[in-house]
Amino acid sequence: MVLENLGNSLRDVLKKIGMAREINAELIKEVVRDIQRALLQADVNVKLVLNLTRAVETRALQEKPPEGVSPREHVIKIIYEELVKILGSAKNIQLKPQTIMMVGLYGQGKTTTCGKLAKYFQKHGLNVALIAGDVHRPAAYDQLQQLAKNTNAGFYGVRGETKAPKIVREGLMQMKDYQVKIIDTSGRHALESDLIEEIKRVAAVANPDEIFLVIDATIGQQAGPQAKAFHEAVGITGVIVTKLDGSAKGGGALSAVAETQAPIVCIGVGEHIDDLEDFEPTRFISRLLGMGDLQTLLEKIKETGSEEEMEEQAKKMIAGKFTLKDMYEQMESLTKIGPLQKVVSFLPFAGKIDDKQIEETQARLKKFRVIMDSMTDEELENPNIIKGTRISRIARGAGVETKDVRELLRYYEMSKKAAKGIMSDRKMRKQLEKQMKNFTP
Ligand code: GDP
Ligand code: MG
Repeated sequence: MVLENLGNSLRDVLKKIGMAREINAELIKEVVRDIQRALLQADVNVKLVLNLTRAVETRALQEKPPEGVSPREHVIKIIYEELVKILGSAKNIQLKPQTIMMVGLYGQGKTTTCGKLAKYFQKHGLNVALIAGDVHRPAAYDQLQQLAKNTNAGFYGVRGETKAPKIVREGLMQMKDYQVKIIDTSGRHALESDLIEEIKRVAAVANPDEIFLVIDATIGQQAGPQAKAFHEAVGITGVIVTKLDGSAKGGGALSAVAETQAPIVCIGVGEHIDDLEDFEPTRFISRLLGMGDLQTLLEKIKETGSEEEMEEQAKKMIAGKFTLKDMYEQMESLTKIGPLQKVVSFLPFAGKIDDKQIEETQARLKKFRVIMDSMTDEELENPNIIKGTRISRIARGAGVETKDVRELLRYYEMSKKAAKGIMSDRKMRKQLEKQMKNFTP
């Protein structure tokens, strides 16, 4: 996984929040310190880290959770949002005919990324030609030609030619029938004036739609000044950050580039031709935190009912107003919570629900639904009256056996009892907490 260490540390932070008995100022302070440590280890700039953690702290202490969202989930949401923020806004690769010029220093992954992009466009139904504009390294020609061969892309290059603009002019003419033209260019060890000159001359000939700067993530936050310098010198339209698979400093590279306002278009996550990914800050952070899309997650949590709603249900049960409909709803939310638990391991539910239980519950639900459809409103509201001939009538109407109806009723009695148990547990716990408080001097 990309940014393994950072991901692990941040997931630990979320776990800590999930396990905490209470969300209070002390916990927030501790969590903020953990986040700071994790980000600094990923080489994120100190100033950015401080801004982020300050924002998390202030918001976590001041903002009220929206309805249906627990304080725990709210803090997690804030951390997620602030992390997304430091990655800036995304820019997607345009899926249309175009000319792209790749620029960057030696060894950053320019040529490799030309091949990856070719594959990327092909996958989206556009044909691609690669043009070998790196005249400094003899091997660059062969490398690009091989990539073109592997991807079945068009290729143009002139071995031994030293004038890049000439190759590019001829290449674009020869390759004009391809929808996407990608130009590889030379690098240098540093952004020297002759490199700037060369890029400008090639750009003047190519008139590219995009100039993508390729930066190796292993340089960490140094990627920021580099992106800025290239942008000021030649006007880049996007950045591709490579080697995120092998870098502990990737967080620094991404955040530093984002800070320069140069949009990150995609990321390289391996040496293989398919190891190129669209860069979407929200998705990236969600994955880093080990959860699906957080927004959908929070919506689902809402669907399954807030803690207050559950409490309300429990009260109803005790008062004997727990109906079959209530039981059905409860079972339904159980099947929703189950898959959620798999998505996020930190959700503070007491007992874990396994796959088998979910399946069983879903199968039961289906049958119960059919049976309940054959009941009168009176029976649904007051299941105690369902006896003898009523059972036979319901079974006939639902096309099931009487034992199925009895199972439903048994299940109902069990749920009622279990609910009472939960409620008294809760009462007991509250009582205990009170006593403890009074006890401590
Ligand atoms: P260029 O000098 O900028 O054209 O860089 P190259 O494309 O020749 O790449 C330099 C080295 O980086 C090669 O060994 C590539 O295989 C490697 N490389 C490029 N992108 C990635 C990436 O995303 N992940 C990893 N692990 N290696 C990469
Ligand atoms: Mg190269």
